[in-house]
Order: sequence, then C-alpha cells, then structure tokens
Amino acid sequence: MSRSGSCICGAVKFTITEPVTETGACHCSMCRKWSGGVFMGIQVPKGGMQIEGEDNLTVYTSSEWAERAFCKTCGSSVFYRVTAPGPLNGEMHVGMGTLTDPSGIPLTGELYIDLKPDGYAFAGEGRHQMTDAQVTAMFSAPPQEHL
Ligand SMILES: [Zn+2]
Ligand SMILES: [Zn+2]
Repeated sequence: MSRSGSCICGAVKFTITEPVTETGACHCSMCRKWSGGVFMGIQVPKGGMQIEGEDNLTVYTSSEWAERAFCKTCGSSVFYRVTAPGPLNGEMHVGMGTLTDPSGIPLTGELYIDLKPDGYAFAGEGRHQMTDAQVTAMFSAPPQEHL
C-alpha cells in the first residue's frame, strides 16, 4: 500500500511507494529543534518515494552524515536523508506527521532515549530503544555491522 503526504501548504506532495515497516522517534537535540517537538520518521529506502514540487524544498545540511528538507513556504519538516557514504546513503526518514493518513503505522523504535525530555513519553511496549552511546557505537561500527 502506498502512502501519500504533503507539507501544510501543499507546495510539496509525495508518495511513498515502498511498504512502511520501520519507524522511529528521535529525541536528539537537532530533531527536537527541527520539528519543534519530537521527530517521528518513517524509514524509506533510497528511491522509495516520489516527490512533486521538490523545488519548493529547502535542504539544510545538519551534520556530516545527513541533511533535512523542509518546505520553503510553510516550514513543514518533510524528511531527513542520510548523505554519508555506505549502505545507508540516500535512506530517508519522512515525517510521520506529514502523511495524509498515518493510521495503522506502529512506532517501532526510539533513538537517543536518554535525551528524551521529561515532559512526555510514548505509551505501549515492544519498541527497540537506543541510548546516545548505543547510537554513536552503531554509526562508528563498520557498515556491515549495522544493517
Ligand atoms: Zn508547504
Ligand atoms: Zn535526531
């Protein structure tokens, strides 16, 4: 089943053509600032999304390994994309909140759980959670060890 979404103003529209299996909430300080809260993303492999109005996105290089795209007009946080070389290059994390219909999509993971602000927490169980140290170890391991 494909999923479609857009920014608030509709200048950017997209369709995710791959099945949605992995999702995650990120509690890092960059995602907090970028989203204004907690960023929840849907993992989309390279080429797994068609974008209409891509010229209306501003792409910000937020670190040595990733960039973040938002609508020039309305500011909606649309996706995070891995730019580091390796097997994850081009992988996108599309904002769950930008989907037209996010029903039926589970939250399967949380990153930087030890940096989560005290004021909120997600209900339910069965998500994999990683601390700051675990995420750092994952990114510094040889690529084949974090697939
Ligand atoms: Zn917009
Ligand atoms: Zn983050």
